[in-house]
Amino acid sequence: MKSETLIQFLRRFCDTQCDCGKIHDFCIDDIIVEKGAINRVAEVVFRYHVKKAFVLADKNTYAVAGKQICDGLSKANIAVSKYVFNVDALEPDECAVGSATMGFDSSCDMIVAVGSGVINDIGKILANTSKKPYLIFGTAPSMDGYASATSSMSIGGLKVSLPSKQANVIMTDTEVLAKAPLNLLQAGIGDMLAKYLAICEWKIARLVVGEYYCSRIADMVMSSLEKCVSNLDGLIRRDEQAVANVFEGLVLCGVGMSLAGCSRPASGVEHYYSHIWDMRGLSKGTPVALHGIQCAIGTRLAIQKYEQLKAISPNREKALAHANHFDFATWSETLRDFIGAGAEQMIAQEKKEGKYDKERHAKRLDVILEHWNELLEIMDTVPSESKIVSILDRLNAPKSIEDIGLSEDILPLTFQATKDIRDKYVLSRLYWDLGIQ
Ligand SMILES: [Zn+2]
Ligand SMILES: [Zn+2]
Repeated sequence: MKSETLIQFLRRFCDTQCDCGKIHDFCIDDIIVEKGAINRVAEVVFRYHVKKAFVLADKNTYAVAGKQICDGLSKANIAVSKYVFNVDALEPDECAVGSATMGFDSSCDMIVAVGSGVINDIGKILANTSKKPYLIFGTAPSMDGYASATSSMSIGGLKVSLPSKQANVIMTDTEVLAKAPLNLLQAGIGDMLAKYLAICEWKIARLVVGEYYCSRIADMVMSSLEKCVSNLDGLIRRDEQAVANVFEGLVLCGVGMSLAGCSRPASGVEHYYSHIWDMRGLSKGTPVALHGIQCAIGTRLAIQKYEQLKAISPNREKALAHANHFDFATWSETLRDFIGAGAEQMIAQEKKEGKYDKERHAKRLDVILEHWNELLEIMDTVPSESKIVSILDRLNAPKSIEDIGLSEDILPLTFQATKDIRDKYVLSRLYWDLGIQ
């Protein structure tokens, strides 16, 4: 018997009533992960009654899959117009979106993007503004944005998450995937490793600030993560099934975010390490590595902070005194110095959030102290630092901040600044609530 496909699994998931109180739904029509899928693109495009397709790629993804897809579409009598970025490293900025928009053929009926991170982010924006159906043909298992309805961009030197469009179809060919560059595969595993902390922090947030939580989504994410890391040998050998598992895991986590209606299933404090390094890269020109590579290092560093936290005994007086002496104006200046222009938005959002409000802090502290043992149990679900290091070692992936050209000196402030990135209760907020650093 043929095993259940990802889309069948997700439909079944949504058909089952959930205790979390939400009715789960998603609007992806199909997810196709199979050998030879590159030759099925025309057949899938036909479902949308397409006469002309617009293919978006960069020169690398065009060479590995885009050309073959264009040929297949032409052979099936679907007209093709295309835009191929002729650059080595495509930046997700106004310039790239502008070029793609200028090269866009508005007489097409569907957008077919061929690539991974940045190509997909730009494809989603084009699909959103043109209101055309969107197919992403993934060429690498490098990040979990395939299924997301937002695009990660930089505008005017600031990192933003733009609302865009969830793909109608996500496709990939396992043969193409298995040949993806090693750094993209490392990044995909890194974005998956982040899920250990994402799920842990989701549970912490439920306990401390009463956040919505869905155990079925959390379990789904954790089992896809285990599936990815259980076959590292296969990944190293470039076994098609092992690489496909990473792709499927990333897609599943992306869908998990839309099922939950929040980013909890896929990102936690480790993603904020990465955001901070991205923002410093934009404002100070410091090195920036692939999203998933930074998330992997962030995961390792945050696990060190979890270990440190598990060893302390919380102290109410110390925590209250710390919150009382905290001066937001001074901290705002530190953020400006450390992060640059991106800090303004982080500072401004405190007005809405009031996370540093002393009364609210005291209430959270009560909950934390009362449930400390439960919090310790949740923290115990995080794997050891050595487990993460051995996974990264096996994949020959960067595993320290120095490996990506950054200095260890920025670590303390990086961690402290992670609590100001979004209105989300993450490890660094638990640290602040306890009055420790
Ligand atoms: Zn649920
Ligand atoms: Zn991510």
